Amino acid sequence: MKKTIKDVAVAGKRVLVRVDFNVPLASGKVADDTRIRAVLPTIKYLLDQRARVILCSHLGRPKGKVAEELRLDPVAGRLSGLLGREVAKVDDCIGPEVESAVEKLEPGEVLLLENTRFHPGEKANDPDFARQLAKLGELYVDDAFGAAHRAHASTEGVAHYLPAVAGLLMERELEALGRVLKNPERPFVTVLGGAKISDKIGLLEHLLERADALLVGGGMANTLLNARGVQVGQSLVEEGSLEQAGRILEGSGGKLILPEDVIVAETLDAAANWRTVPVDNVPLGWRIVDIGPRTVELFQERLSAAKMVLWNGPLGVFELEPFAGGTLAIARTLAELDGVTVIGGGDSAAAVNRAGVAERITHISTGGGAFLEFIGGKELPGVAALQDK
Ligand code: ADP
Ligand code: MG
Repeated sequence: MKKTIKDVAVAGKRVLVRVDFNVPLASGKVADDTRIRAVLPTIKYLLDQRARVILCSHLGRPKGKVAEELRLDPVAGRLSGLLGREVAKVDDCIGPEVESAVEKLEPGEVLLLENTRFHPGEKANDPDFARQLAKLGELYVDDAFGAAHRAHASTEGVAHYLPAVAGLLMERELEALGRVLKNPERPFVTVLGGAKISDKIGLLEHLLERADALLVGGGMANTLLNARGVQVGQSLVEEGSLEQAGRILEGSGGKLILPEDVIVAETLDAAANWRTVPVDNVPLGWRIVDIGPRTVELFQERLSAAKMVLWNGPLGVFELEPFAGGTLAIARTLAELDGVTVIGGGDSAAAVNRAGVAERITHISTGGGAFLEFIGGKELPGVAALQDK
């Protein structure tokens, strides 16, 4: 268990908070403020406790130098609106001007620093840069779960120079995902999809050891099907993963459940010809774009008995309306379950939002890469750097 902001005194202190404000921007405005809303509980708690709150984050990939379009000003604006109070912003994240702005900060006030990735020291986890950041605060709070798989200066390095504790979002993520990882309620069923098997094959093996059933769809199922000798037409198969896929199938002991029928399309667009076929009947030149109705039922049957479900990766090309059916049906199935339901991955979270059932899911992780690594059993550097209770 990691210490959190509730375990330490924060009143009057300068608290440097790493948040994940890596939000999508469109024409200079915040296009989706989910990530900003996710850290409001931490910010509000600190302000209520009369801390001096200093926020920092990365945004996009400015490659170690200033990129005008990746400044955090639009975030400051949106955050001001959400908090109902002015959020001051400075145009750098270290240096004398930032230090003097920090000195002027009163208890109960909040200051937003500039994009940390404007400095090459951020990604390089340069100790000098980390020390300069650390100088701004008396306490470091990490609430950026989505960035915790990176050992960067603001997510890891700075924790070497300040007492470091978890924010409330970080705490919630570690609790919800830790429960899945260490102590799943059974039957524990996992659903895996998404585009590429090479991204997730390690995770698949890891989950196979722990889960009672593993339901696989999406693009990643193609390689497993192909390794079983099924012709998948034009569907993407990753040759480099075929051998490992074959080994996984052999050792899976019937826990791994693959599609029995699929939606196939002639081309990859919303107006394409498509039809449902048994999985061993994919027409040459066509591609698998979704799981079929029989597979949806098969998955639903397995899910109905589950006490805990973990889901990552859409089961079809859900961005295209005709091929979203399988993904949306499984999202609605999870929403109806009595058991604990946990979802991670940016596209998976988007799919659940599109199905309109997000409130009925136990936990939707804010992590993409961080979620996959954590669930895969890896220690996240940003988490490891925090003090234990
Ligand atoms: P997440 O962000 O939730 O971790 P991924 O990024 O791994 O999920 O995968 C999402 C992508 O997988 C989506 O863009 C979706 O279109 C794609 N996908 C799902 N099924 C297929 C398929 N059968 N063929 C090609 N792409 C697919
Ligand atoms: Mg994705």
